Amino acid sequence: MNIHLRFGLQKDKEIIRDLSDKLDGLVIPAHILSYQSAVISAFVSSFTDMPFIIDPMTYLLQHPKVELTNGSGDLRKSISKMCAEYTPDVESVLLAHRQLSPNNIPDCEILCKGVRNQQLSISSKAATKKAEKYLKRYGRGDSVTPRFIVSPYFHFNSTSDQWYKLSLEMAQAMQTICSEKGDGIEAGVVIFVPADKLTDDEIATIASDYSKFKHIILWPGDFDERTANKAQIVNIRKLVSKLSEFAEVEILYAGFLLMTTAADGAKVVSHGLTYSQHKSFAVTPGGGGMPERYYIPKFRAFRSLSQTDIIFHQKPELMCDCPVCENLLQSNPDRIILFSDEPEKLREHFISVRKQEAIEMDNFDRSSLVSELRDIYHEYHSSICNLPNPDALVSGSNMNGLEYLNRWADGISEEL
Ligand SMILES: [Zn+2]
Repeated sequence: MNIHLRFGLQKDKEIIRDLSDKLDGLVIPAHILSYQSAVISAFVSSFTDMPFIIDPMTYLLQHPKVELTNGSGDLRKSISKMCAEYTPDVESVLLAHRQLSPNNIPDCEILCKGVRNQQLSISSKAATKKAEKYLKRYGRGDSVTPRFIVSPYFHFNSTSDQWYKLSLEMAQAMQTICSEKGDGIEAGVVIFVPADKLTDDEIATIASDYSKFKHIILWPGDFDERTANKAQIVNIRKLVSKLSEFAEVEILYAGFLLMTTAADGAKVVSHGLTYSQHKSFAVTPGGGGMPERYYIPKFRAFRSLSQTDIIFHQKPELMCDCPVCENLLQSNPDRIILFSDEPEKLREHFISVRKQEAIEMDNFDRSSLVSELRDIYHEYHSSICNLPNPDALVSGSNMNGLEYLNRWADGISEEL
């Protein structure tokens, strides 16, 4: 299974470069590319072998205006720049409505052409003076063409939703445009799927509607791995398996649970450097980063550093033995605090564990994974949920347990 990193913050450029031997590709959000075009284009162009795609982020157009504007009522800079690259009038349309409906979205062909041009713009954007300075330092690679063009897409609730129909229309229009261009760059799609509402009929409809696409990216929007139940897991697996009959399926914002859909046919997962494990439609208010978190390999999940501290003192055998952790922890749980001074080591540790997990997925053994998840639950659940939670708003509450491992085991063991 391949790991593609979703680019989030400028400051991560260095660490992505350091970790590039463990990564198979990048996903660049379109508004970040529009906003910081020279720097991001130069960054992408500087790798010798780092495949990438651009996420067109068009679902942002569905959000209420108030979430897309700043205090003075103007569109946020990154979104305004992205819109300007897409079509001349989408910004004024956005500002004229409280929230867009499918009818307000610009004509399919015009929007698709704008989106396609933006996704092919890296090489020209990397030719500016500012970009040249960066490239002088790192050298110029050759990965300036995306793996495929990602069509505009929207969030929908069911296949009878107008937004679903519009997403499909956009995908078909993009496919026509790409094949007419004849430059060999194909169209791909994002299906922003409501995991909660999938039924066998919905899965069949989606598979039949998208049967002509070879690159399908799934974004299970309302799917939080920590709370996902058996039915949701089974539905996502069924969808992956059905789509994999004809397409290369990738998953956006995947954690370990979604990685296991490798066994159902998924080829790629993408996620951020610890921040964006799971993402839903809602826009998270800006300001204030997430607290630093540590990925506990045996739990297949992140915990805050203060929880990890308590957990490692109780169960030192849970300490990771990757080179980063071995070096920093030196088998001493007291040293976990050192991670807060070197947060980039948290990312290095996470990506090196994630790489191992990807290799595990290539040698997937359903029954041994299921028993491993259940074993970890039995061994640690009751002690973990009796530990005090240092992050709790109400003092005296305990940490969350590991019930999710059992739900995962239920969902993964099901015969499709
Ligand atoms: Zn580690």
